[in-house]
Amino acid sequence: MTAKHKLKLALREAYARTLFHTGLHRVVNRLMPRRLTILMGHCVDAPAHNAHFPRDMKIGAAKLEAWLRTFQRDYELVTVADGWKRIQEPRALSKSLVALSMDDGYADNRTELLPLLQKLGATATIYLEERPLEERRITWTHKLFWTLDRSGPDEYIRRYGELSSDRATCEKLAAAVREGRQIYQLKRVLKYEADPADRDRTVDAIFRERSGDEARLAQQMYMSWEQARELEQAGVELGVHTISHAILSRLDADAQRAEIQGCQRRLAERLRAPARTLAYPWGRRWDYNADSCAIAAESRFECAVSSHAGTNDARAKRWELKRIAIDDDARLHLLVTEACGGFDLLRKLGVDWSE
Ligand SMILES: [Zn+2]
Repeated sequence: MTAKHKLKLALREAYARTLFHTGLHRVVNRLMPRRLTILMGHCVDAPAHNAHFPRDMKIGAAKLEAWLRTFQRDYELVTVADGWKRIQEPRALSKSLVALSMDDGYADNRTELLPLLQKLGATATIYLEERPLEERRITWTHKLFWTLDRSGPDEYIRRYGELSSDRATCEKLAAAVREGRQIYQLKRVLKYEADPADRDRTVDAIFRERSGDEARLAQQMYMSWEQARELEQAGVELGVHTISHAILSRLDADAQRAEIQGCQRRLAERLRAPARTLAYPWGRRWDYNADSCAIAAESRFECAVSSHAGTNDARAKRWELKRIAIDDDARLHLLVTEACGGFDLLRKLGVDWSE
């Protein structure tokens, strides 16, 4: 990390702590235009469902409850679809809006998150991936996480090197492990740089060698359609997250359309109401493209969300709404500073300390 970047992080931290602990965030919140802040997570910590998940996919129930209570004091908690609709009339809002979104459709969203939402009288938006629900199949990333949890990175890379014929990727994986940024880097190399067919085959072979059972793991990790319907019944918004969690930008427009509209049709078939919003898998600017946004528009969604940090006002890019990641390591003072418009205020003053 460069000295300049370290300084930026330190200033950002000091600014957010000051706003949060002095209560100034409430003043900023009142002064700044009304906005919609969308929080983005994956699961609530529940060992029966997600013990092997990386830390950045989980948040403890007690922490999430405390955070939602904090937001409930100064904001209105809404779904993504309602939040986007209502932010179009900012003058009609007495408070700014916060939406909690959770991606992929994990079982804990039903068993842990729903009771928490009901206790608080709150709601959320959950983005469902079709394949784990419909076919009980999982992506290569979850086979990777599950196996890494058993073997550790060194052993994993050794075996990968023996089974894969993609030599360039094996070299990069070995280098990533040597540099010590292990699981995150392994995932990044396998996601963006590996030959996808070789990767899927190799990850699956290692998973099976360790007696991994795809259907059983899918059952343990993901909710069922029955549970999805219980969430819908309870007023939780269920949105589209594609059939197979593909990197959309790697697909042509027809294949993207099949991923997005296929999942949309399946949800319409299995649930009571049509999905109103879409979350691009992975969600970074390089994971989707102009075709993805055009297909979101032609598919009559109300808006689509990315994974880039920031808040949204009425003029936000409707097909690329921003979200702020939450996990166990996220910090409440930074979340509140985003939500109250504290970083937007700085940007207006020409200082960009966000992201
Ligand atoms: Zn996802």
